[in-house]
Amino acid sequence: MAITAPQQSLYEIAIEQFEQAADLIGLEDELRQILRTCKRELIVHFPVEMDDGSVKVFTGYRVHHNLAAGPAKGGIRYHPNVTLDEVKALAMWMTWKCAIMGLPFGGGKGGVRVDPKLLSPGELQNLTRRYTTEISLLLGPHQDIPAPDVNTNPQIMAWIMDTYSMHRHGGVGVPAVVTGKPTLLGGSAGRLEATGRGVVFAIEEAAKTYQIDLATARVVIQGFGNAGSTAARLLYEQGSRVVAVSDSRGGIYNPRGLDIPAVMAYKQQTGSVVGFPEADPVTNEQLLELPCDILIPAALEEQITEHNASRIQARLIAEAANGPTTPEADRILFDRGVIILPDIYANAGGVTVSYFEWVQGLQHFYWTEEEVNSRLRTIMTRAFHAIHATAERYRVQLRTAALVLAVQRVAEITRLRGIYP
Ligand code: GLU
Repeated sequence: MAITAPQQSLYEIAIEQFEQAADLIGLEDELRQILRTCKRELIVHFPVEMDDGSVKVFTGYRVHHNLAAGPAKGGIRYHPNVTLDEVKALAMWMTWKCAIMGLPFGGGKGGVRVDPKLLSPGELQNLTRRYTTEISLLLGPHQDIPAPDVNTNPQIMAWIMDTYSMHRHGGVGVPAVVTGKPTLLGGSAGRLEATGRGVVFAIEEAAKTYQIDLATARVVIQGFGNAGSTAARLLYEQGSRVVAVSDSRGGIYNPRGLDIPAVMAYKQQTGSVVGFPEADPVTNEQLLELPCDILIPAALEEQITEHNASRIQARLIAEAANGPTTPEADRILFDRGVIILPDIYANAGGVTVSYFEWVQGLQHFYWTEEEVNSRLRTIMTRAFHAIHATAERYRVQLRTAALVLAVQRVAEITRLRGIYP
């Protein structure tokens, strides 16, 4: 019988990436043990009453990977495939993401194992309020600050804020307990677009460094959720040719370029990009291998693997999704000279503007969208050059360089704080 190697789990992937950086900087064993471990892992099972009167029990998670630099920060996702292993990996990546951007946060993540598309708005609200209650022993503006992630949005953040505020603050809203809220509740201007906008800022900086002409660049985007559709629109508006996009149902391709505002309107109407008239259908797998200059995976993890990495045609990959590329694929792409702007940097615009939102919420003093966007650009640009210089110095790919910076920072904070008691 053939023995097939068991597939690496997402947390194993996160650990492998971490170990590469730890080896490079010769990180001592004590800190290695601390930093590779998630500090807290909460699993909750809770009932929700459905519209037809029946009761369903759901499973949710909230994980704190590391709190050395500040309260836990990270999104909450609703997806039928959510597992503890996945949430742990995502929490660890949040620690590194916040460290690279210099934000005073640790890393956390949450998720509920559910397909939210099968819930009514009322059921979605009940599930959100009950899950918030279940994890509320961890939450707080100085403990743990959730945000949107896959299939969650400002309305869901509003319910989280309201539930927490009802329990802990006599019903008076506590804006700093969650980010990505509607602006009427203290959400930051520019937060909704921040992940996509940050991806575009990262691409612009990389394009200058690696001499890619954005005016003629062909772009392919996998995933047309918040990050993917915003990146598509901003790149389209500045003249790049977005030739293919997709969502969970499939993709569309037009080598002459897609009219992105029209695709957005079509998806708004029909619920999917699939069937958009001025394009050919492609599968999500085919889409990754299309001829293009820039590829933006903006969907889920483990999309670029050893099976397709050698057929990717892009010169630059900007990871709007978390964990889209496996370590095996990383190696193949690095050898082929493909540049990868890693997730923990490329999609950090979201959490960076979450930080701005948290600061505004604590101060009850709100900024303009221009201020938010220009501060975001400053931080994204600074981080790019720090990562690029580190990659040159160690002769490694940008992912490992980004991890080196992050691990060094969190390790140094841990050394300074010392081991309690
Ligand atoms: N879920 C987003 C991420 O993966 C945003 C997290 C946040 O804003 O806290 O980075």
